Amino acid sequence: MESQSRPCPSCAAPVPGAYCGACGERLLGADELTVRAQLAQLVNGLFNIDGRVLRSLFTLGFRPGGLSYDYCRGARVKHLKPVQVFLLANVAYFLLQPYTGFNTFRSTLTLQIEQQLYSEQLAELVRARLAASGESLADFAVRFDARADSYARSLLILLAPLYAVALWALDLRARRRTFVEALVLATHFVAFMLVYNYLLGLNAVRMAIDFGLPSYGEITGSMVTLPILWLWCTLALRRFYELSSARAAARAAVITGLLLPIVVLYRFVLFWITYWSV
Ligand SMILES: [Zn+2]
Repeated sequence: MESQSRPCPSCAAPVPGAYCGACGERLLGADELTVRAQLAQLVNGLFNIDGRVLRSLFTLGFRPGGLSYDYCRGARVKHLKPVQVFLLANVAYFLLQPYTGFNTFRSTLTLQIEQQLYSEQLAELVRARLAASGESLADFAVRFDARADSYARSLLILLAPLYAVALWALDLRARRRTFVEALVLATHFVAFMLVYNYLLGLNAVRMAIDFGLPSYGEITGSMVTLPILWLWCTLALRRFYELSSARAAARAAVITGLLLPIVVLYRFVLFWITYWSV
């Protein structure tokens, strides 16, 4: 074995395999510095990334909590990092959300001043402002919605720490996981919510409505998305915190129920940020 090891080009330690055990350097292969080998590596790299993306999305949806569990026990090469999963979900959401017909995190001006608990007051505010400036509601809505979109992308990032605090508080007495670990699970939870609930789930709801399912607006959407979210959350908490099914289900109900006040708060904050900047 000793005769087969080569000196590491970076630190000179003997290297028996492909990677230096002392500094982590990867040793060059025999023909590696040829154009052909480089192209092959590039292609391989692209497919590899692709494989990781698909595998991460699959695990996110169908092995609830699996991404977080593996990440926190240190098994990290097979999947994207939590932040990458979140960014992927975020981009996918804003790209594909218009096709679902639901505006959960997008929150257009119409939705804000017509369909919220606080709509009446805001509608009055907007009317007064337009009366003073002479701008039409349609023109204002176009400007408002474009700006709201760009803020929504950033504001969505706040959902993960918000849920992390909730997860951490629920785990406070047992302290099975640190806050950072809770943040990892919360990040995956929000990513799941965006991709599987608000893209795939709501798209299915919209198609069902097209085929005759009676629609009560956002309530119909919630009737589908909340049970899915609760089920995912139960399985994820059971795996991640090693809880019994009953305890996991009860905590999942708390986490899922939080979505309603969080969405209201989120939209309200988004309205004001947007309103003061357009
Ligand atoms: Zn080395």
